[in-house]
Amino acid sequence: MTATVCIESGSVSTASNNAPDGLLGVYKRMSVEFVRGAGVELFDARGRAYLDFASGIAVNALGYGDAGVKCAMQEGLDTGLIHVSNLYHTVPGRLLAERLVEWSGLAAAFFCNSGAEANEGAFKFARRWARTKGLAKTDIIALRGAFHGRLFGTLAATDRPQYRMPFRPLAGGISIAERDLDDLAVLLDSETVAALIVEPVQGEGGVRVLDPGFLREVRALTRERDVALILDEIQCGLGRTGYLFAHERSGIEPDALTLAKPLAGGLPMGAILVSQSIADTIRPGDHGTTFGGGPFVANVALHIVQRLANPTLLTHVRDEGRRLGEALENLADRSAKVRAVRGIGFMWGVDVVEPAGSIVARALDAGLLILSAGDYTLRIMPPLIASRDDLTRGVQMLARVIDG
Ligand SMILES: *Cc1c(COP(=O)(O)O)cnc(C)c1O
Repeated sequence: MTATVCIESGSVSTASNNAPDGLLGVYKRMSVEFVRGAGVELFDARGRAYLDFASGIAVNALGYGDAGVKCAMQEGLDTGLIHVSNLYHTVPGRLLAERLVEWSGLAAAFFCNSGAEANEGAFKFARRWARTKGLAKTDIIALRGAFHGRLFGTLAATDRPQYRMPFRPLAGGISIAERDLDDLAVLLDSETVAALIVEPVQGEGGVRVLDPGFLREVRALTRERDVALILDEIQCGLGRTGYLFAHERSGIEPDALTLAKPLAGGLPMGAILVSQSIADTIRPGDHGTTFGGGPFVANVALHIVQRLANPTLLTHVRDEGRRLGEALENLADRSAKVRAVRGIGFMWGVDVVEPAGSIVARALDAGLLILSAGDYTLRIMPPLIASRDDLTRGVQMLARVIDG
């Protein structure tokens, strides 16, 4: 079978860093160009395989070339509807909202196109809700180590000085608090604070799994003080921890929940799920976006969330994730170059003594894709379909690379 060629491709070269390739230089890209993927591996133009322990930053939960995802895309294409506008109803978005609402226990979904957008929307919805309780109740608080995105509102909620400094002044009314219950108890004032936003597992901030007890206390404090609790599960949600939603482990119910990265298998999509009491305050015109929840992207997401909610997959992530953690801890015990290991499911941070960037680069040379999370932390996030053998092979490669 010959594939239809729709785009004349130029020569494919292994691009070098900072190549004058017409792309704005906001990324420090690695010196590799991928042309194909299958299962848990990516391939460069020379056919060299790379084992993926990064999942495109927690996006490619089902790996590459998945038959079900292809089928959902084809089904979407066959309707002829890629986009029709939110002026009209379409089936996939409605079904996706029904599923997410049912599984999360929240009341309504809003679809957008990225993680930052989901959090920006959640801030707006929380303020809309808070406004019904008092005009001064507008503040949004995020936690030390947080990453919530790079748009103006979300950047103000992101605790990374180097991301923030060049763009000040950032959006007002948003501040960072310590991950400390006593501090929060003082800060969370029912008159002025609209929302607290929390990642159940901080991803960019070094893979910090917030203790379920801490989350329960945070829930109690926010309830007591009538502050909306927004959980950002953009990275840790949808199966990565071995639970469909990362907060399930703590048994709490948030007022709003944001999703994105794996939601539509690499197509751009974010979601905001909100409680009934927030939904009750939202009126037509309060928010909107042109592309959000279009029929094509929503059909793919509908397939993906069904796959990620599958108990067999979630059990796989919990069980193999535990083994992965043990293997990494083993590595830490054996290697003087590893300081500590933290994580859950298929989301692990490894503190190293050498700058993480140089280990990430050596891993690439060795055919292993990993991430960093801060200057001295490696981040390991394999596709959720990675087998025990894949994980064992990756940890062995990692061990060699770290001891380099
Ligand atoms: C990636 C990420 C975001 C931002 O998502 P974008 O799609 O890059 O805007 C927000 N919160 C968390 C926890 C993330 O990991």
